[in-house]
Amino acid sequence: MTKTLSILGATGSIGTQALDVCEKRGIRITCLTAHSNDRLLEQQARKYRPHTVALVDEDAAKRLKTALKDTSIRVLSGMEGVCVCAADDDTDTVLTSVVGMAGLQPTLAAIEAKKTIALANKETLVAGGALVTKAAKDNGVRLLPVDSEHSAIFQSLQGMQHHTELKSILLTASGGPFFGKTRDELAGVTLEAALKHPNWSMGAKITVDSATMMNKGLELIEAVWLFGVKPSQIEVIVHRESVLHSAVEFADNSVIAQLGVPDMRIPIQYALTYPERYESPVKKLSLTDYGSLSFQKPDEDTFRCLPLCRSAIERGGLCPAIVNGANEEANALFRQGKIGFLDIADLAAGALDAVESKDDYTLQDVFDADEAARAYVRAHIG
Ligand code: NAD
Ligand code: MG
Repeated sequence: MTKTLSILGATGSIGTQALDVCEKRGIRITCLTAHSNDRLLEQQARKYRPHTVALVDEDAAKRLKTALKDTSIRVLSGMEGVCVCAADDDTDTVLTSVVGMAGLQPTLAAIEAKKTIALANKETLVAGGALVTKAAKDNGVRLLPVDSEHSAIFQSLQGMQHHTELKSILLTASGGPFFGKTRDELAGVTLEAALKHPNWSMGAKITVDSATMMNKGLELIEAVWLFGVKPSQIEVIVHRESVLHSAVEFADNSVIAQLGVPDMRIPIQYALTYPERYESPVKKLSLTDYGSLSFQKPDEDTFRCLPLCRSAIERGGLCPAIVNGANEEANALFRQGKIGFLDIADLAAGALDAVESKDDYTLQDVFDADEAARAYVRAHIG
């Protein structure tokens, strides 16, 4: 169970909800980091009193340093500053809630410093899965999932005696705001419509990923790395209500699932208090209020990011890093109004075909593949 926590990506959707959980559970905050939101990081620093804070953006870090000069809080900058917070001596657990594969380097720094990892930052595991899981194994570090589906799978696996008992994973998906739409209808959808998620309130990047179902593809890859299963052992099921957060099927065809109202503070808290459970601020689930729950097959002809991710992890090597890098670029371009919604899947598929992969890779190979995928996307818009 976590006593001292460093949060990488404190100002985001996961970071702020984690601070709420820490306050209620009396978990001491040691370090907080963010990209450039100095105003919010200052407020958080004053309230939670970490000994160190870091901002990636140098100008924002300068402003924060001035703003916090009446305190003893140390202010660092750049990715080095974030990595210092990841490897802090006074910290037992690091919550990785940075968005994007920018979280890869600090996650590896935290693992090498033997910190328990509460992992929200899925892109890190997608892009560098082999490096992250090997580093965790070599350093005897636990990767505790924060993503709601992976927390559900992890919770459902408690009590499993042997890995051979696990037959398959049922990964549930809300289907996002565009479930049931045709490709023609999707061609002209706006950013505003893509940001209207039916069940979850999240950061902009992951909300767009949910609309394209790239998020479920990334989660499929995340599950392969976290639970040591083959991609073919994972079935994606659309479950519109987001109440059954995922399930596992055992050798005897018994299926065990975790359910709850859609609120990230349950999986965040479970990762931080594991293996114990405590009261949480989250509303009780009333199944009779729901009355019925629905389950359907995903439409993979329309939502092509899902089969694309499955094929990337089946091919292995740098393929998931290529799809992830292309998606990070295309997702941002869609949010800037520079490309259409359906272009995201097309550009990610194009990058996977065009950028060279290799089976065994180093950290530098991941950065190079990521950059090549982004460059492919920039060169193929319009
Ligand atoms: P967000 O955009 O709300 O917050 C991102 C945080 O990361 C912010 O604190 C930001 O300052 C920081 N950040 C952004 N770019 C950075 C960079 N280049 N370097 C360092 N820090 C940077 O995102 P979020 O919705 O909180 O998601 C965070 C991660 O958690 C993502 O990987 C997402 O897929 C995952 N996740 C989120 C949810 C959710 O409910 N929001 C659920 C499951 C998983
Ligand atoms: Mg999820």
